[in-house]
Amino acid sequence: MSKQRLEGKVAIITGAASGIGEATARIFAAHGALVVIADIQDELGAGVVASIGPDKCKYKHCDVRSEKEVEELVGFAIKAYGRLDIMFSNAGISEKITSSILDVDFDVLDNVIAVNVRGIAATIKHAGRAMVASGTRGSIICTASIAATRGGYGRAVYTTSKHALVGLVRSAAAELGRHGIRANCVSPAGVATPLALKYTGQSQSQSDEIFEGMMVLKGGGPLKASDTGEAALFLASDESAFVTGQNLIVDGGATAVGAIPPVPAAQVK
Ligand code: NAD
Repeated sequence: MSKQRLEGKVAIITGAASGIGEATARIFAAHGALVVIADIQDELGAGVVASIGPDKCKYKHCDVRSEKEVEELVGFAIKAYGRLDIMFSNAGISEKITSSILDVDFDVLDNVIAVNVRGIAATIKHAGRAMVASGTRGSIICTASIAATRGGYGRAVYTTSKHALVGLVRSAAAELGRHGIRANCVSPAGVATPLALKYTGQSQSQSDEIFEGMMVLKGGGPLKASDTGEAALFLASDESAFVTGQNLIVDGGATAVGAIPPVPAAQVK
């Protein structure tokens, strides 16, 4: 086992019952953090706790669309573990990738913004308040996406929400820096998680092939949920002590080089 990079730290991870959040919970716990796994999928969340070990993590139901539930989540972590050092605000949803700007469903738009922007703002507000009150030099990390950098990597509503998130995080970094609190985004390219498969309607192998094709970095296979977890580990650890207000993109060079659009033309209306 390499050096424990989060020894003595307490982390909350939203959307940790599945995908990137779950993979990150495993990495944070392996690095010595005590982790609160927050999600709306209670059975899956309990299963993640059982497999990581109840001595290292606990589950708390939290729908990030409810500010009250987010406030309770932060209170739960502090009551259970005595402090809060890391908020990995990762829960997110998308509209279906076949939807078009020409027929935006505004109920869908409201819900995507409620989770991806409003929900993340609530986690920053309440984690930030707890860190300021306790004088903790905390780290807030939010999962954006390569759809936060350019159009065309997701549908319009999802792309809008992820662009907004980068602005939110930069503003949080500007305001919270005087308290020693950092705020950054981590932005993966496509990973074949349940979210990606649900919204693209693709199989795991189709997704892996398309997502791998987007990257300019070849030979490593498709991006895995744990690749984003490792980037989040860096942002959570003291090794990134002077990194704040950034959007750390984990995409095998896709956005830097700007090659292949991820949505096959046949799927766009
Ligand atoms: P996932 O579906 O495996 O995990 C997302 C989790 O968020 C789920 O467990 C879900 O129950 C939870 N969640 C959804 N709505 C919630 C709510 N209102 N309150 C609390 N939890 C809620 O998907 P994932 O791919 O691991 O997604 C994690 C993050 O990564 C999202 O923000 C997503 O936008 C982002 N992302 C994913 C990809 C990808 O290709 N998978 C690419 C870029 C960014």
